[in-house]
Amino acid sequence: MRAWQRPDVPSLDDLGLGRGERPAVHDTKRDDRVVVPYGDSATMYTCGITPYDATHLGHAFTYLAFDTLTRAWLDAGVPVRTAMNSTDVDDPLLERAARDGVDWRELAEQQQELFREDMAALRVIPPDAWIAVTERIDRIGDAVRRMVDSGDAYLLPVPEGDGAAEGAHDVLFDTTRTRAFPIGLGSRTDHDEMVALTREFGGDPDRPGKRSPLDPLLWRAERPGEPAWESAVGRGRPGWHVECTEIAMDELGSPFTVAAGGRDLRFPHQELQAHHALALGAPLFSEIRMGAGLVAYDGSKMSKSLGNLVLVSRLREAGARPAAIRLALLAHHWRADWEWQDEELEAAEERLDRWAAWARTPGDDPSLEDSIVPWLRVTIASDLDTPAALQAIDDFVLRAPADEGSLAAIDALLGIDLLAVEPR
Ligand SMILES: [Zn+2]
Repeated sequence: MRAWQRPDVPSLDDLGLGRGERPAVHDTKRDDRVVVPYGDSATMYTCGITPYDATHLGHAFTYLAFDTLTRAWLDAGVPVRTAMNSTDVDDPLLERAARDGVDWRELAEQQQELFREDMAALRVIPPDAWIAVTERIDRIGDAVRRMVDSGDAYLLPVPEGDGAAEGAHDVLFDTTRTRAFPIGLGSRTDHDEMVALTREFGGDPDRPGKRSPLDPLLWRAERPGEPAWESAVGRGRPGWHVECTEIAMDELGSPFTVAAGGRDLRFPHQELQAHHALALGAPLFSEIRMGAGLVAYDGSKMSKSLGNLVLVSRLREAGARPAAIRLALLAHHWRADWEWQDEELEAAEERLDRWAAWARTPGDDPSLEDSIVPWLRVTIASDLDTPAALQAIDDFVLRAPADEGSLAAIDALLGIDLLAVEPR
């Protein structure tokens, strides 16, 4: 599916400023910092939106985190390939469409278009491949078939009362099969906690007949009134985790460098994706996993069901400059959970004005020692510490004139083109 316009990303190397270090970032699985990629090039799969509540600040915060990582790699001279999905057929989307009396496909397309506009306005580098789940139904069905054939998946009759066709079966993944590592929460395994998280994320742990309460749905047989496709495992639609597994491996191979998403996807979603990949014959799904912090508003995590969404499009309509929204988000560390305060936007607008005024009054080109470039590179390479980077710039604009290299670095690493900022 079409992504969005790619922003210009200046090359600091072309300006004679050399290259940055490869970033060290926090890996959720090991709970430790690692320098990635290990090899010559980087690949990243980011769990995309379910297109029914796009684009709130929690989404924007997540995709900005991985945009910063992509920018750090590019500055380090590392070729990057990225992929992302859109979960464009899923229970919350179908429920929302039914409630609002709209076709689920129309709702998805409209929300995806809004997401494109928001991401382009925020100057997020688009994924090289943005794949809707409905574009990959056949391949996902084939992957589920292979797991049935290898004994990693099993059939479970659809409960009576669901109205499915006679003899219809769902397909579940068998988490009791031993693979390279046990199902776990990072480096820990706590069964009760995993069951609770499975329940929280729609995993139906109490369903009779399951071999383990943790076993996720790989394929849901057709129910009346629900979208369904023919596949190698019958009519129906795919489960959530296997969609991401198939799209990531198909686009990036395995192992790829980073499996990325919001921190709440750590379990069961990212863990089960990795186990599906092992069952499909991958030696390893990804080298590391990353989870961006969650954004709250009015005391709770931003979510459509709670109605406490701050939408990027609304802020833009109300006159916020996208670069200021970007700055407001980058002022928080990518791994932190935090609560949006409305005043943060005004603070970011003022900061943007200060920086833009500085950018318009250039001085002589300083030596590299007097440039912001090394400071930005050090802070970003240290687990993408954008709050420290913003403070370094605050400090720098007070004591040094603007120079071409510093302006290019602020654009390349933080995605803010100060010479293009419009006055308020
Ligand atoms: Zn995903």
